[in-house]
Amino acid sequence: MIEFREVTKQFAGGPPVLSGITLAVPEGELVVLIGPSGSGKSTLMRLVNRLIEPTSGSVWVDGRDVAEVDVVELRRNIGYVIQSVGLFPHLTVAQNVELVPSITGVPAAQRRRRAEELLALMGLEPAAYAERYPRQLSGGQQQRVGIARALAADPAYLLMDEPFSALDPITREGLQDQFIQLKRDLGQTILFVTHDVEEAVRLGDRICLLGDGVIQQFGPPDELLHRPANGFAASFLGDSR
Ligand code: ADP
Ligand code: MG
Repeated sequence: MIEFREVTKQFAGGPPVLSGITLAVPEGELVVLIGPSGSGKSTLMRLVNRLIEPTSGSVWVDGRDVAEVDVVELRRNIGYVIQSVGLFPHLTVAQNVELVPSITGVPAAQRRRRAEELLALMGLEPAAYAERYPRQLSGGQQQRVGIARALAADPAYLLMDEPFSALDPITREGLQDQFIQLKRDLGQTILFVTHDVEEAVRLGDRICLLGDGVIQQFGPPDELLHRPANGFAASFLGDSR
């Protein structure tokens, strides 16, 4: 489980971006963070793998305060996927996927087998794609490799920051479908950022709406759509459809 306890974040000289955020992402669930641009979604997510530190409050993963956990160990257990995948251009698809397991000492044959499994799971036939270079793939295919790479270390947690946002609508929908399937098979605990209400509703077990530095509403998709908690929620969810 991922837990935020009274988390506040203020960047030097700026106003508070997050004010007293308390939120739990239950084991095996996918919680979507949604909210307008600049509402602190990425900031909240980056506190989990300690790309940034909170101004006050604490973040807990697996019952441990992340501030007390070795960063390398922490990140080994947390896959991170962002909008621009950042595949290494000089490595093949398979080498990109195998990168982390190769650093952590997983034997070559075993990590190759796992890479091929994950590529197949992401809809990329290994025989056709494993030896290609990233530039030989479409944006959607690169994003699939990015997800396979994040899963290659078998992390218990996944942080996904607008992973599908740069894709065209058809590719995005295909990837969403595949991801829903994958989520069922793998059972990771997932924090997922999007600004797209439709995507949030399709993927989320629960949705957390951020606005003005606080949680405006947290609940199952149905509840947010049909029972907005306040004017902010009504206007954000209404305007976005
Ligand atoms: P979102 O992901 O919801 O669009 P962000 O978390 O990226 O929002 O940003 C929230 C606010 O924090 C924005 O006003 C942004 O400018 C500010 N911010 C984010 N990261 C930094 C940083 N490293 N330094 C200063 N300000 C930042
Ligand atoms: Mg963001």
